[in-house]
Amino acid sequence: MSKFSQWQKLFFLTIITILTLILIIFSEHLLRDKTIIAVSSQNTINLSHTVLAQNTKEKTPKSIPQTVPEWARMVDITTINPNIVLDIRYATTNNFLGKQLYKVPKCALRKEVAIKLSKVQKELEEIGLGLKVFDCYRPLSVTKQMWAILPDSRYVANPANGSRHNRGAAVDVTLIDFNTKKELEMPTAFDDFSERAARDYPGNSPQVKRNSDLLAFKMQKYGFSSLITEWWHFDSVGWERFSILDIPLEKI
Ligand SMILES: [Zn+2]
Repeated sequence: MSKFSQWQKLFFLTIITILTLILIIFSEHLLRDKTIIAVSSQNTINLSHTVLAQNTKEKTPKSIPQTVPEWARMVDITTINPNIVLDIRYATTNNFLGKQLYKVPKCALRKEVAIKLSKVQKELEEIGLGLKVFDCYRPLSVTKQMWAILPDSRYVANPANGSRHNRGAAVDVTLIDFNTKKELEMPTAFDDFSERAARDYPGNSPQVKRNSDLLAFKMQKYGFSSLITEWWHFDSVGWERFSILDIPLEKI
């Protein structure tokens, strides 16, 4: 009797331990999904550079975590995959505003997003192609500058709402030949805000459509969603977990 009850006790103890472990893992997952992360590149919170979403519909955290999970840290894409080519247009005057808005030509993204983009690059290399990025994280103050020059939500995100670029969770990107670094032909140039930039524009040649579809297919495969009106723009799925930031690019 006593031996049997000991085994019984052991059995129940094991079950309780397993259930507790499952509960801990599950609650950590919930927390990870529900937390809106405010983050600087040093893995610590710098309140002076952190701008939480101003949209009232946005979920604003009651308290800011003191440490930031590794996956939400802001990183320079070149530290994750140096093969991705940069052509950061807002660090030049070669953009639709004709004005330099970034001090440095840097592609900064949340680490989770950068890793996904790196996976796309690796897969493209297998077929002799690669990625060239035009824009990644965009500080909120730059969105405000853009809005001051062109206050039209067809072209620029309204800073009152912020954008996915402001969260380090969106990327403007095209395909290049890996060896020559030449861009593949796409529906339009970057930041062409005409109807021709739309993914489903019927006037595109079959080759252009194939290129644009290939980019969208590879990006979607690794967790990005495309925008119908701009062939170059992709949001990282899960972007809403990241808060809007206003850290200058040179500080990342
Ligand atoms: Zn974009």
